[in-house]
Amino acid sequence: MRLVDTHIHLYDEKYLSSLDQILSDAEKIGVEAVICVAEDYETSLDTLRIASKNDSVYPAIGMHPWTALHSFDELERVIELIQRENRSIIAIGEVGLDRKYESGEKGYARQLEAFKKMVELAKEFDKPLNIHSRRAARDVLRILRVYNVEKAHFHWFTDDEDILREVVSMGYYVSFTPSITYSKRNQRLAKLVPPEQLLTETDGPVPFYGELKGKLTEPKHALLVLNKLAEIHGIEPSELAEIIWRNFEKLYLQ
Ligand SMILES: [Zn+2]
Repeated sequence: MRLVDTHIHLYDEKYLSSLDQILSDAEKIGVEAVICVAEDYETSLDTLRIASKNDSVYPAIGMHPWTALHSFDELERVIELIQRENRSIIAIGEVGLDRKYESGEKGYARQLEAFKKMVELAKEFDKPLNIHSRRAARDVLRILRVYNVEKAHFHWFTDDEDILREVVSMGYYVSFTPSITYSKRNQRLAKLVPPEQLLTETDGPVPFYGELKGKLTEPKHALLVLNKLAEIHGIEPSELAEIIWRNFEKLYLQ
């Protein structure tokens, strides 16, 4: 069974000392691909370095909406890095909008500016977008429409059901984290996404409850997500794993 973790922050210090072990543990249970997403200039460099040393790690770089608030000045450097490294990256991410984290208009305007730049680069270099969206999916969708974006992936979707239906109708991909093993709301959302548009992720090192309570979130935990998604959709895990692998290939490797 081939598995994929489509969103994790491997440069986090929690992974530093044991990254080789963590990746080999993941490979042992079939995790053949891990997308490391970045948040700012430094973590984009870290992501490129980690990916260059590990065959199963694919780099996505970009400016997170939170970074747009804390260090907006980095935007130019992140843009230049994407331009310079466009051949070595698999996607632009983690990028997007977050109204839960920042609802002030000035901050939100910065997020919008950074996100639009990231979308422009995705179009220019024909890369998919690995998107963070909190209470902002409607604005994200509006921007994706304006730029006529075809390749987009909403990571850990938590917005409302009606917006999710729109995301699905646009043909975009949606991933869920280990929170799906215990969050009834996340389970209801995951049921609305057809298998052909689903992806698995962990968003490590974000901690989770349930089976992962007190444990470090690792790429191998993509298996927990797969198993729960399979249960929700009434499909054999092995069958869903193959569908999700093909989704990953279609969005990220073509
Ligand atoms: Zn993330």
